[in-house]
Amino acid sequence: FNVPIAVNEPVREYAPGCQYREAIAKTYKTMYNSNLDVPMYINGKDVTTGNTRTMSPPHDHKHVVGQYHLAEKSHVDEAISTALEARKSWSQVPWQDRAAIFLKAAELIAGPYRAKINAATMIAQSKTIHQAEIDASCELIDFLRFNVQFMTEMYHEQPQSTSGAWNKIEYRPLEGFVYAVSPFNFTAIAGNLPACMAMMGNVVVWKPSDSQIYSAKVIMDVFEEAGVPAGVINVVFGDPVMITDTVLASPDFSGLHFTGSTYVFKELWKQIGNNIHNYKTYPKIVGETGGKDFIVAHKTANPKQVATAITRGAFEFQGQKCSAASRAYVSKSIWNEVKEQVIADVKSFKMGSPEDMGNFITAVIHEGSFDKLAKYIDQAKADKGADIIVGGGHDKSKGYFIEPTVIVAEDPKYTTMCDELFGPVITIYVFEDDNYSETLKLVDETSDYALTGAILAKDRYAVIEATKALENCAGNFYINDKPTGAVVGQQPFGGARGSGTNDKAGSILNLQRWVSPRMIKETF
Ligand code: GLU
Repeated sequence: FNVPIAVNEPVREYAPGCQYREAIAKTYKTMYNSNLDVPMYINGKDVTTGNTRTMSPPHDHKHVVGQYHLAEKSHVDEAISTALEARKSWSQVPWQDRAAIFLKAAELIAGPYRAKINAATMIAQSKTIHQAEIDASCELIDFLRFNVQFMTEMYHEQPQSTSGAWNKIEYRPLEGFVYAVSPFNFTAIAGNLPACMAMMGNVVVWKPSDSQIYSAKVIMDVFEEAGVPAGVINVVFGDPVMITDTVLASPDFSGLHFTGSTYVFKELWKQIGNNIHNYKTYPKIVGETGGKDFIVAHKTANPKQVATAITRGAFEFQGQKCSAASRAYVSKSIWNEVKEQVIADVKSFKMGSPEDMGNFITAVIHEGSFDKLAKYIDQAKADKGADIIVGGGHDKSKGYFIEPTVIVAEDPKYTTMCDELFGPVITIYVFEDDNYSETLKLVDETSDYALTGAILAKDRYAVIEATKALENCAGNFYINDKPTGAVVGQQPFGGARGSGTNDKAGSILNLQRWVSPRMIKETF
């Protein structure tokens, strides 16, 4: 279709001696001490309000890295009216020109902005350099490149015509404006939510997470430099209730693209329902929400592979990926070997600031998250049926540090086997080798969420049985792998049940939600 064929951005290495290690260390230091002032961005202009909130890294919460400006209701109103004004021109821009802007954004991140966006993600979200690189650089670049390709494929999909009648579909943007609400845990998602909707010709009001503002600022700079016209993507910060109330009260609201908690998504859905008679069109609602992702290890699984799936799946980025493993079911005959390896792996992990690139574990996102996790861990220490086999420590004096913690539970319905914790804690239930089928049934029954899951087994019949028994438990299901690390263009991402509307981020399915096609039939 005459667009560059999308390829996944290669992941850069930052180990000692690698080419880019020094540059990232330098950029991190400069940005850490820059006292950055982050305005909002409305109608292509920086907007300051003087009403500010400071930004601090989770691993050093007394250090201030800057501040961001908070919206009054009038700013949100302005973002909406500006977007609607911009829509008049933007909706008429040929798709090739929209594609060009977002392909340029991808190239800017791949090149001149790469160190900046990675360092901002290390500072704001406390990601290690590797986690920042695969998220803020590679995944965001992939989202932009692949979505351009998917958009192109979609626009070329046309119905059959006959000699007397010519049928054409126009993939129009939604009428009105759309609302992007993005999470702290992936800079790539924060960039993709507004970008993929704008790419389809929509105009956007975007509210990033308070815990991700520093890296959101870099995304805004990239979009501006790439040539996103004024008013197409407007960014507001501050009180989520006021911002959301204002956005959802507008009769021109026509779509929500959300990633965040299940509770908030359901509340927004309810609010949209309450306003339904006011809207000019039925709003599209797309959300990716919570998870309680699982690993099941059959007796024929390789114990070392199981241990790696557990430790990498549960502890990379402190277990704060929506896809992170947070419960595991391990067959008794392999358990001792798995256990020894898990303990050895966890003991080898270094914890501390991402500035020290040897650290594998850094801080959790904020005090609220820290306190919640510490409470669950302390409860497990007190509970008879729960045994902490490694970790269990926590300390928030400098940063919000929670040791990677493995709990073994006697009861497969123990609280930490069921509740979403969103941190570096995994709970394991050891099942009798003969109870494999019952265990699969149990996993299904206790899956209120259905985002990711993994089965590890050498026995193909065991794989087939799990794939069937768990068909509704995970939108992304992994065989002999950890349940994290979906790659754009390879594993479209999303889940059902309490985990969202399963509109697969990074695929044509997601883009299809952001158009309102017009069918034109012409007869001759
Ligand atoms: N796509 C990411 C992964 O597969 C998770 C995205 C999320 O946390 O929302 O690990």
